[in-house]
Amino acid sequence: MARDVEISEVGPRDGLQNAGQLMPTAAKKAWISAEAAAGVGEIEVCSFVPPKLFPQFADAEDVVAHALAIPGLTVAALVPNLKGAERAVAVGVRKLSFTLSVSRSHSLANVRRTPDEQLDEFRRIAAFRDALPEARRPLLSVGLSTAFGCTLEGPVRQTEVCRLAAGLAAAGADDLALSDTVGYADPAQVRRLVRAVQAEVGGKLAAAHFHDTRGLGLANVAAALELGIRTFDSSLGGLGGCPFAPGASGNVVTEDLVYMLEAMGLGTGIDLEALIRVRHIVEEALPGEPLHGHLALAGVPKGFKPVVAA
Ligand code: ZN
Repeated sequence: MARDVEISEVGPRDGLQNAGQLMPTAAKKAWISAEAAAGVGEIEVCSFVPPKLFPQFADAEDVVAHALAIPGLTVAALVPNLKGAERAVAVGVRKLSFTLSVSRSHSLANVRRTPDEQLDEFRRIAAFRDALPEARRPLLSVGLSTAFGCTLEGPVRQTEVCRLAAGLAAAGADDLALSDTVGYADPAQVRRLVRAVQAEVGGKLAAAHFHDTRGLGLANVAAALELGIRTFDSSLGGLGGCPFAPGASGNVVTEDLVYMLEAMGLGTGIDLEALIRVRHIVEEALPGEPLHGHLALAGVPKGFKPVVAA
């Protein structure tokens, strides 16, 4: 179906990256299949990072092969560098999510490169992509992480976000996302930053990745929606938490996000009841891992009509 808003489920990547335990490969596959069956059109299924450092993604190739066999699903994978991009393309991933942290300290801590060095790494990935036969070329999507603030540096300069966004667009990024990696954004700031980045790169700013660490995740989505952003990352049960604030929730909760959008009259193509049931797979596979979300507790309201009735 045609969707008004695209939800990109990032739980199997962002969620599991920050979870306190490993999820068995079979559970990851069951999770991905069940979400796709519930109508989720895009899932970031893994991260192509060194397995020795990130054992939770040692099965990346296996998980991708499973996801690629699901009809109609856009399979995305995180790649922090050229090596990751090469691994992802080798197994047929058609959407690569690259991240560039605007905060210099965060970038150094995460990938041991400054933001400009990471921009250079992106140029290498774009060159690699452009040299591929057309049929194998993946989409290059880039998230500007810590765009709204950083736990190490505090405020992040808007001019710096704009400069790096323009650099990425010039280097061949297909689309850009603003990421509130640590949950610092508020709706007024979202409006300011989205407008400023749109002035630099126009429609290439396509997506946003918000966290609900301080309870403003959905308010930030609503602000970005007003300015034309139509793709949002979220995580089932808000899985993953926040590594810098133990106990706090992490990514925007997919179930709550879908509910808000559908209630606003924006079709997501997702069956809410089916989506809520997917939580059981995650609960069983990650015992004791806190799952967040209001909708799963309260249920869908009586008489609620999704945008396109089943
Ligand atoms: Zn996140």
